[in-house]
Amino acid sequence: MTPSLAPDDLAFRDEVRAFFADSIPDDWKTTVRSGLRLPPETLTAYQKRLADRGWGAPTWPVEYGGTGWTPAQLSIFWSEAAAADAPPQFHQGLELIGPIIFTYGRQAQKDFYLPRIITGEDWWCQGYSEPGAGSDLAALRTRADRDGDDYVLNGQKMWTSYAHVADRMFVLARTSTEAKRQQGISLILVDMDTPGLRIQPIHTLDEKHHTNEVFLDDVRVPLSNLVGEEGMGWGYGKVLLDRERMVAAATAMFLPQTLRAVREAAKRRRVPGGTLFDRPGFRSKLAQIEIEALALQAMVMRLMADAAAGADSGPRGSMVKLRWSELIQQATGLWVEALGPAAQHFEALDGNGKTPPDMPLALQGALYSRVTTIYGGSSEIQRNIIARRALGL
Ligand SMILES: Cc1cc2nc3c(=O)[nH]c(=O)nc-3n(C[C@H](O)[C@H](O)[C@H](O)COP(=O)(O)OP(=O)(O)OC[C@H]3O[C@@H](n4cnc5c(N)ncnc54)[C@H](O)[C@@H]3O)c2cc1C
Repeated sequence: MTPSLAPDDLAFRDEVRAFFADSIPDDWKTTVRSGLRLPPETLTAYQKRLADRGWGAPTWPVEYGGTGWTPAQLSIFWSEAAAADAPPQFHQGLELIGPIIFTYGRQAQKDFYLPRIITGEDWWCQGYSEPGAGSDLAALRTRADRDGDDYVLNGQKMWTSYAHVADRMFVLARTSTEAKRQQGISLILVDMDTPGLRIQPIHTLDEKHHTNEVFLDDVRVPLSNLVGEEGMGWGYGKVLLDRERMVAAATAMFLPQTLRAVREAAKRRRVPGGTLFDRPGFRSKLAQIEIEALALQAMVMRLMADAAAGADSGPRGSMVKLRWSELIQQATGLWVEALGPAAQHFEALDGNGKTPPDMPLALQGALYSRVTTIYGGSSEIQRNIIARRALGL
């Protein structure tokens, strides 16, 4: 959805449309529509292509290599990307640590890391969660103790997505023990090839390897890898979590991809008396999700306009995250229903089965979508935020 467009915006839309028409190979498209991520090397190639065009960091200010686009331009960019079945950009460098570095980092960190994020040279992972410290992140126990010119990190991180392919990780660790649990936490940048860092895969329901446990045993990093001030990491962490909700906002603009796939599958599927799409019951379910997706996009536009105006968007980020995660689960679920038995093709759990080359990715996407109501702050936590900030409960 785009607002009514000024002539400049129309010209911009044509430029963006032409770029995407040339830039998205067919073999990416089904994966993208199913809400699954493309493999990291493909996403990195995509990031590089955007960077070559000057569009590597659409949401960043110009002074750090971003586009400085208006909310209308961003909306056009995301809508055109969605229409072309382009993937959302991988967010952990671009939307999480990048903005923290340009807001709180030292000049040397800005000079070194930011360009590498834009060109896709560095893949970042987020080392926040721990066993016993997920929603209650202040319970984290990983320590970073000063020793000469280094911090020495010890502890365990949990659910670290893409740690196995990442070049660098941003870590929340305890640099001192204070009465208040939120104090004494620092944000530290760690190279993934540092001795003492060990990665153990976690295999998930969708039979992919996205996420990991990361063990840190006497991992030494220079003091200069601290971002901002020592002990102030909790404050930066909260900014990151807010930013993660903005990521959901961006991703919400991509919902129509899955809904188009549902529509096409239902039109192809023969059932007694016609196609599945001819059945009012099915059409009404699809229409309901489409309408809610449009309403969500209207909320995203308001969120972006607030952000551009420097206004506090209140709990709107949480509302978007909550609603998007529910809708992507419903949309992928409906896609599985539309495909019928064909959607059940899936690699056998014993690992001996062969995946048919035409395996629809819908089921895998539907299984993966289960995580969206957990990561980035679970739905219960988002509801708590909305209750507190919007309803004053
Ligand atoms: C696939 C996947 C990828 C992830 N990737 C990353 C990553 O890259 N980096 C990273 O740092 N983390 C990552 N996470 C971790 C994710 O952010 C946490 O799983 C999430 O914050 C929930 O924490 P938890 O798993 O410890 O559950 P818990 O916090 O133990 O929660 C368990 C249940 O209790 C509910 N609950 C907890 N507290 C409250 C409360 N106060 N009120 C009401 N209900 C409550 C929760 O909503 C949930 O339903 C990932 C998780 C998954 C599953």
